[in-house]
Amino acid sequence: MKPPVWTMRITIPLPFYLSTGRHRRRNAIFSLAMLFIGASAPPAVDVGHAAVRPGTLPRNWTTGGPKCMEVPDWQVHEYNPDFYILRESGCMHFEKPFLYLLFGTDKTLLEDTGSGNNDAARAVSAVIGKWLRRNHRESIPLVVAHSHSHDDHRAGDAGFASLAGTTLAGTTMVPLTVAGTQQFFGIKNWPGDIGAIDLGGRVIDVIPIPGHDKLGVALYDRQTGVLLTGDSLYPGRLYIPDFAAFTRSIERLVAFTSGKVITHILGYHIEQSRTPYLDYPIGSMYQPEEHSLELARGHLLELHEALRGMRSSPTRMALRDFTIYPTDDAAWKVLEALEKKTQEEQLRCMWDQAECR
Ligand SMILES: [Zn+2]
Ligand SMILES: [Zn+2]
Repeated sequence: MKPPVWTMRITIPLPFYLSTGRHRRRNAIFSLAMLFIGASAPPAVDVGHAAVRPGTLPRNWTTGGPKCMEVPDWQVHEYNPDFYILRESGCMHFEKPFLYLLFGTDKTLLEDTGSGNNDAARAVSAVIGKWLRRNHRESIPLVVAHSHSHDDHRAGDAGFASLAGTTLAGTTMVPLTVAGTQQFFGIKNWPGDIGAIDLGGRVIDVIPIPGHDKLGVALYDRQTGVLLTGDSLYPGRLYIPDFAAFTRSIERLVAFTSGKVITHILGYHIEQSRTPYLDYPIGSMYQPEEHSLELARGHLLELHEALRGMRSSPTRMALRDFTIYPTDDAAWKVLEALEKKTQEEQLRCMWDQAECR
């Protein structure tokens, strides 16, 4: 594989302009202005020029409609030639999760395998096959990891075992246990320490973030500056069964990201609409006015601040782009009943949403 040509350069903490010539000029003008303003200027912290490999995200993702006959089971998006995002269709399962596939020179890493009765292995295998053709390669080992252990993130696991011997020869499944995850990524103490995996010219940091689940990890891709946060931070309802552990995890994630380039924070669902504070009901498969997938470090800081403000007393709180949603058995019962009701309504309309308007 050719060595990558990276063009995006970021300076911190001047305004977070990404690298067009126009933006560089604006940065220069800003710096010059600060020089003359003198004492009132904010102190510049020079962390050097961090170069990250750029990528793009779509303005809208396919959800589950308006006509399920027309919606592909998987939407594949090329963030850049070595980073792919797959989204499972809402017509397949209302959770509509995202899967992340990152290529290094020696291995490829898949995080999560989707929800419901899906064929994630076939979809991922097709992308890997095309990547091999594009890069004139015969094979590449695949590592399948998980953001956490909930059903809607590992439903496709079995398919990877059955496809061993095809494009997916040499697949390794990271064990879905804390001890197995620790061992695989070299995390000495759980959850205080940080592990890593080197895909070949591409190191991914693995940060334990229990709270939503006992086995939660965030992944930081040093190459693109993307932080994958699973169900712990995404535009939707952040369900929190273990509030104390979750709060500590978010504190550690804030500390980990401090001073690092964070281009996007990407989670695994979208439940929020484009209207501030408004989410779709649990169980929604069709979300025509969906929030963007990507969040920024500012959202992480906002989450951190809100959790701190609760002072160990879990409170449900809607914020502009996500909701803090502590859960207990009673809350889950209500959520399950709501999910069932929404599903019944939406499945009735899945072949043509217009019929239900
Ligand atoms: Zn989950
Ligand atoms: Zn989930």
